[in-house]
This record gives sequence, C-alpha cells and structure tokens, in this order.
Amino acid sequence: MTPAKEVRVRIAPSPTGFLHIGTARTALFNWIFAKQNNGKFILRIEDTDLERSEPRFEKDIIDNLKWLGLDWDEGPFRQTERLDIYEKHIQDLSDKRMLYPCFCTKEDLENERQAQLTQGLAPRYGGRCGRLEATIQKKYIEEGRPHVWRFKVPDKTVSFKDMVRGDVKFETKLIGDIIVAKDFRTPLYNLAVVIDDQEMNISHVIRGEDHLANTPKQILIQEALGFDRPTYAHLPLILDPDRKKMSKRHSATSIQEYNQQGYLSDAFLNFLIMLGWHPKDDQELFTKQEMIEKFEFDRIQKGGAIFNVDKLNWINTQYLRHMDDNNLADLLDIEPNTQNLAIISLLKDRMTKLTDFNELASFFYKLPDYPASLLVWKNNTKEDTLRNLQLIYDLGEDLNEIQIESLAKQWGKGEIFWPLRVALSGQQASPGPTDILDILGVEEAQKRITIAIHKLSV
Ligand code: GLU
Repeated sequence: MTPAKEVRVRIAPSPTGFLHIGTARTALFNWIFAKQNNGKFILRIEDTDLERSEPRFEKDIIDNLKWLGLDWDEGPFRQTERLDIYEKHIQDLSDKRMLYPCFCTKEDLENERQAQLTQGLAPRYGGRCGRLEATIQKKYIEEGRPHVWRFKVPDKTVSFKDMVRGDVKFETKLIGDIIVAKDFRTPLYNLAVVIDDQEMNISHVIRGEDHLANTPKQILIQEALGFDRPTYAHLPLILDPDRKKMSKRHSATSIQEYNQQGYLSDAFLNFLIMLGWHPKDDQELFTKQEMIEKFEFDRIQKGGAIFNVDKLNWINTQYLRHMDDNNLADLLDIEPNTQNLAIISLLKDRMTKLTDFNELASFFYKLPDYPASLLVWKNNTKEDTLRNLQLIYDLGEDLNEIQIESLAKQWGKGEIFWPLRVALSGQQASPGPTDILDILGVEEAQKRITIAIHKLSV
C-alpha cells in the first residue's frame, strides 16, 4: 500500500508522566512508517492540561525518545505555544453554530446521570444548554456564570477504515454533545488534536487502541471544520502476562526504568517492535535498518500484545553478546584498557543487562572474602585440597594453561580446576580458571593462591 499524499505522522505524548512503553511503541511504529514512505515524523507535546503537565516529564520524554534513537523531523511543538491557532478555529466552530456554552454544574450533570441510569439508559449529556436561547446564553456569560464549550454532535453513523482494525462503525446517538474547550484559548484533547493534525498536515494517525473511542468524535469535529480526514491505525494494547492492561504492579512501565536497569536501547527497540507485530518468518532480532525493511503494517495484530520480560532479557543478552568490547566499555563507563576489554570479552556472554557487569566483574578488581570450605571439591578432604593448591602454586612462573591441564590429567579435573577457580575468583560460579588466570596474570594469581592456602591451613 503506497499512500498517495506525503506521509506525515506524529507522536503526541502528554507530559503528564514519564515516557511510557505504549507511547514508545507507538513512536517506533510511526517512525518506521515515516522512514518506509519517505515521510516525516513529528513530535508534538500535548501539554494543554496545565495541572498535570510538568517540564520534567517533557524532558524525560524527549531524552528517552533520543535514547531509543527515534529521531523526529519536526518539533517538538507544544500545544501551549499554539493558543492563537486554536482560538481561530474555535471561533470558526462557534460561527458555524456547532458550539454552545454549557452552564451545567457538576450536580446538574450527576442528577441527569442518575436519572438516566435508573431508567436503564446509557448516561449521556441530554443537551439542555444547547436549547437555551441565544439571548439567555449571552446574559449568563455576561453575568460571569462558569461555563465550558460543548460541540453539537450530529446524529449519524460515523464509519472509517482503520489500517489495523478494518471497517469501524460508530453511532453518535451513544454520545451526548461533548465538551471540547474550557474557553476559546483552552481546547481540550479531542479538539486540539483535530486542529493540530490538520495544521500539521498529518496524513496518518497511528496511535494506541485506547484512543479508538475518540476517533469518531475527532472525525465529527473535522467534518464540522471542513478539515481533511487522516487515515487511522489503532495499535493493540500492551498487556501484562495475565492479559490485563499493563500496569506498574507487574512490570516497569516507563522507558527510563529500562534504561536505568541496563537494557541496551537497540535491544529495547527490538523488543518494542515485537509488541503487536510479527514478521512472516521467525526472525526475532532486527537492526534498525532491518526494521525499516521488514516491518509490514498489515501484519500488525488486532489482539493485545503481551509484555514478556523474559523475551526482553533474551533479546538484550543477544545484543550484549554481539556488541563490540570497546562500545561496551563506553556504555559501562569504564576505561577501555587491555585488562578491562579482556574482562568484558569474557563476561559479556554471562550478562543479561549492563548493570550485571559490576557484580560479575568485581572479583577481578578485588578478591572477595569467601569461606575456606568453598575451595574443597566434592569428596576431597581439606588436606587433598591443600596439596592440590600447593602443586599449582609450585608451578611458579610456569603457572599456565598447559601446566594446569597436565596437573589435571594426573590428579583429576575437579581436583585441580575447582580449587584454583575458587582461589582466583572467590566465587561459587565464575568463568573457568584459565580464563581468569589470563586476565589476572601470574603474579596476582599466585597471590590469590597463597591466600587460599592460608585459609585452608588455619
Ligand atoms: N496526547 C495523547 C496521548 O498521550 C495523544 C493521542 C493521539 O495520538 O492522538 O495519549
């Protein structure tokens, strides 16, 4: 499917929280779609909710989109910087008599709701203020009565073709006239989005399924304003393994937490692309370039996408394994000297996250304290172990792989390798002793073997 007009898509996060996984996944799908169609990807910060929007959230959203490498072509635009634009269009809606002031109080609305519920009706605004005479409306406004602005919802069936969900139909009878603005310079979400999407020439609105119910409302407003209708695509919700909407109780929901936990941004992106999409074959690892080449919009699933942290861990492990040692040193913020690079090269297969490195590598830098009993292999006695360690120690300058192998042949593999490995690492589990020896060097290794011998001798 090649879109006829220029592809312009957007990600429109509200800075009312940290960058959410769902928003990041939506950003990725938009970003790919733009790249595949030589289009533009636009970042719009939807900050009209002044009470809940915070600069630190905007910063987090921008920083983490950058971390993921989801670069945008235009923006960030902020809705709070576009009030003149909204005012113009709200005035237009009002001139077209599609807008009216609503003076109903919270209690009025609640009473109406209760009355409808007791009659078994679905609650919706009955349009009381829409029936007020123009002179009364004017009078109330002049008196300073608090009010909001409602959009007159025409009675009709709204239908649209969704790129994921196919034909969608919606009866407007189900909704009452909707509140679209607090005043002419303060539009609410549905109205601001429609104006922005038009003004920014958005061709495709690709967003989470949680917005599906907003789409008919937005289409009605577009029609009232004589705007173009973008093509819609609603992406499946991201669910926890228990198939409930993803929540903080189950797993972290903000991108910064994954960033801090030591996931690689490319691995995380690779994980995100599989949330609601699968390729034809069973390829699971994609470079960014491959994502652009292989992503097919019509393979996006309708059903919820399950968030599986084991999958994320597996993907991250694969990326770590294949990463260049120098790049890893850089990400780990350690000096890329010969020893550090050798440690990285040895340990990267054992890491699931970047943050595992410190724990896995610490024994190289400082031998931890460990109990003497750990040195004793299976059925060996303390005396056997002491003798074996002494044999190793006596190799002196010749402490190397060949000599250790030859001792192992003579005395038994476990008998030699186990106490040597523990002596060098102080750990229950670690890489093999000769790998550790290569990195520590003979002098440091001999020091550690001496310590082991002392431990056993007391
Ligand atoms: N501000 C909305 C959100 O954060 C964007 C919705 C849309 O893409 O239209 O969910």
